[in-house]
Amino acid sequence: MSTSTETRNVIIIGSGPSGYTAAVYAARASLEPLVFEGSVTAGGALMNTTEVENFPGFRDGIMGPALMDEMRAQAERFGAELVADDVVEVDLTGDIKVVKTATDTYTARSVILSTGSSYRKLGLPREEELSGRGVSWCATCDGFFFREQAIAVIGGGDSAIEEATFLTRFGSKVYLIHRRDELRASKIMQERAFADPKLEMVWNSEVASINGADKLESITLRDTVTGEERQLDVTGMFIAIGHDPRSELLTGQVDLNDDGYVLVDHPSTATNLPGVFAAGDLVDHHYRQAITAAGTGCAAALDAERFIAALD
Ligand code: FAD
Repeated sequence: MSTSTETRNVIIIGSGPSGYTAAVYAARASLEPLVFEGSVTAGGALMNTTEVENFPGFRDGIMGPALMDEMRAQAERFGAELVADDVVEVDLTGDIKVVKTATDTYTARSVILSTGSSYRKLGLPREEELSGRGVSWCATCDGFFFREQAIAVIGGGDSAIEEATFLTRFGSKVYLIHRRDELRASKIMQERAFADPKLEMVWNSEVASINGADKLESITLRDTVTGEERQLDVTGMFIAIGHDPRSELLTGQVDLNDDGYVLVDHPSTATNLPGVFAAGDLVDHHYRQAITAAGTGCAAALDAERFIAALD
């Protein structure tokens, strides 16, 4: 274990749209940010998708990994130092923040937390492979791709119903697949869903397999009561079984809500700890878009810049 002697102005943890945007702003403010990108998924959630059509500035859309490459290069161009490593421990409580990887210890006057959140997966073969090729976790992002097609939504809570109802704008038919014979969603949402002629409830069913060569063609459903299996032809499947913020690292450090999202003092990105700011899906469980993550990443860098200026 080695310790870097220089105390940085700002360390950014995470490399999705929020982390890279924070890096661009902090670098252009001459704060020479150090960015921990993660060892496996540098670039964040959009590395797992194909076309992104709703990020402003790209009239013909852009592939998720290409968008993240651009953000990364833009941060580097202004002097952000990027490290493809995971942060494994932090102590953010003092004036000097301590950030550790498996091999090194770094210090900084401020830290921006941008570690995002992960969508819960079904854990089935082909799920990852067909992500962006029919399998999705975000109706706002991908619903438009499934115009006049048959779509399945998996889940039974409010967000599953919300996704399914939204998707009826696009799909020829939307099946809501639920393991039980009643929904956990609120009554008002259920009533709206049941009244929608395009939405069909498929009770007591779980996905047994995801089928298709290079894009989704069908799913196999298993009856949770009888065990019987049947094929459902759909070209879109939206998994809406929840998401988890990547905040394990932060337990006992910054204040989190009951679901583990970092609490900030809206409209700023300040956490309860001076000099510690948080942005993106680690905070936001509501909008969960690349552009909103980028927006709060920008705000976090501006907040950090002002915090450091006040120290000097
Ligand atoms: P993330 O993008 O999740 O990035 C977090 C980063 O932090 C990751 O790189 C991770 O490796 C890193 N990290 C985590 N822990 C550590 C650690 N301990 N040390 C170092 N690094 C760490 N949004 C849209 O607007 N349009 C779309 O079309 C769209 N499509 C999507 C398709 C898919 C398949 C998915 C999953 C999401 C999609 N989204 C889309 C949502 C969008 O990707 C997210 O809202 C956005 O990426 C959130 O950005 P973020 O910076 O908060 O976090």
